[in-house]
Amino acid sequence: MSFSSLGLSDALVRAVSETGYTAPTPIQQQAIPAVLNGGDLLAGAQTGTGKTAGFTLPLLHRLSTDAVGVKQSSNKTPRAIRALILTPTRELAAQVEESVRVYGKYTNLNSAVIFGGVGINPQIKQLKHGVDILVATPGRLLDHMDQGTVDLSKIEILVLDEADRMLDMGFIRDIRKVLAGLPPKRQNLLFSATFSDEIKALADGLLNKPATIEVARRNSTVEIIAQKIHPVDRDKKHPMLAHLIKSNNWHQVLVFTRTKHGANKLVEQLEKDGIGAMAIHGNKSQSARTKALAEFKDNKLRVLVATDIAARGIDIDQLPHVVNYDLPNVPEDYVHRIGRTGRAGATGEAVSLVCVDEHQMLKDIEKLIKQTLPRDVIPGFEPDPAARPQPIQLRSGGPGHRNGPGRQGGGARKPGNGGGNGGQPRGANGGGPRAGGNAPRGNGGGAQHRSGGRGR
Ligand code: AMP
Repeated sequence: MSFSSLGLSDALVRAVSETGYTAPTPIQQQAIPAVLNGGDLLAGAQTGTGKTAGFTLPLLHRLSTDAVGVKQSSNKTPRAIRALILTPTRELAAQVEESVRVYGKYTNLNSAVIFGGVGINPQIKQLKHGVDILVATPGRLLDHMDQGTVDLSKIEILVLDEADRMLDMGFIRDIRKVLAGLPPKRQNLLFSATFSDEIKALADGLLNKPATIEVARRNSTVEIIAQKIHPVDRDKKHPMLAHLIKSNNWHQVLVFTRTKHGANKLVEQLEKDGIGAMAIHGNKSQSARTKALAEFKDNKLRVLVATDIAARGIDIDQLPHVVNYDLPNVPEDYVHRIGRTGRAGATGEAVSLVCVDEHQMLKDIEKLIKQTLPRDVIPGFEPDPAARPQPIQLRSGGPGHRNGPGRQGGGARKPGNGGGNGGQPRGANGGGPRAGGNAPRGNGGGAQHRSGGRGR
């Protein structure tokens, strides 16, 4: 099957072929005709499946071939925003907007990306100038709505990308506020890797008779990824990681830690071993995050250490190695993490360094993915059979310990929810909505374990 046979315009087919893609991926084969039809869409697709092009291409097609669009672009008045794409993180927003630009280069549509952590004034200027397609994270978009610096009254297409992640990050109230500011008649596309009851409720309220497509089974792990567990003692994880990187001569390794503090500490240790490493997490400035990601993508940086939310949506072609230095305490995050490798058909390897404290987490993950992962004890790093588990710190310096199995009755995806605050994202820190721009969300919400990186 070819891109042109899906009904895309020549301008789009040309841009796609210049990127080197010869055939649409399964999600693209299904999503592109469904979106071109004009109806709403509910798509189950994990990152790595090619979903971004799956919504970007038909969106560009619809806007660029629509008579209204032609009139607008030849008009002197500034363009109105016609498509809004919401993403959970800044990194993902930037990547999606880049895709819009790449695929839309032969159309006369323009785009902008807005997210928090950077100055708002250049964004205001850009919006004033006129934008057809806006990619945004919910928090900063609301800032603009509050200030009256964005006009969403002409939106024709809305995309919620990685909707499950947006809900996990506590953006539901922000999303609802944004939705309330949109014109009622529009096309809605909702992409999500998983379908919790909360996602279903959001979809029910948002989508009108949607086409539904799903390319990866619910919570299934991408099969081409080789997964392995290396049992290890708690205090031997760092030497083991250095050993793995050096002895296997790994060159582009994405490492996940549970906390920001853990990420910083690991970077220091790896640097001492002569292994180039940088961390990305919510306490890093946007420019530091962008720089680390760019160097890592360009193969100038050997190891990128990330917390879950900071890494969400990172799109690196053919990333060969993902290491879970700490297991995630939300089992679904395991699937998201290892989805960083083996993207769009490339093979990848995901290894997890698991100490005695994490055995319950490992059980929860194996239950979710319905697989028992192979154990591989590395000579010289045999774990002490008499080691006793210790409670796990869920945040740097915080009191949060992981609860036992069955915590929150299956609602384990909502860490800040213990107090019933719905993971309140905005203004939850007291001191006004923009306290520092980078303050973690929902600080009062109990055993908060997530590490910043919200799309503000
Ligand atoms: P996504 O799921 O949108 O994050 O895309 C995952 C990766 O697949 C990205 O690196 C894309 O550049 C790549 N990709 C998207 N569409 C195709 C395609 N048709 N053929 C090969 N690679 C693709």
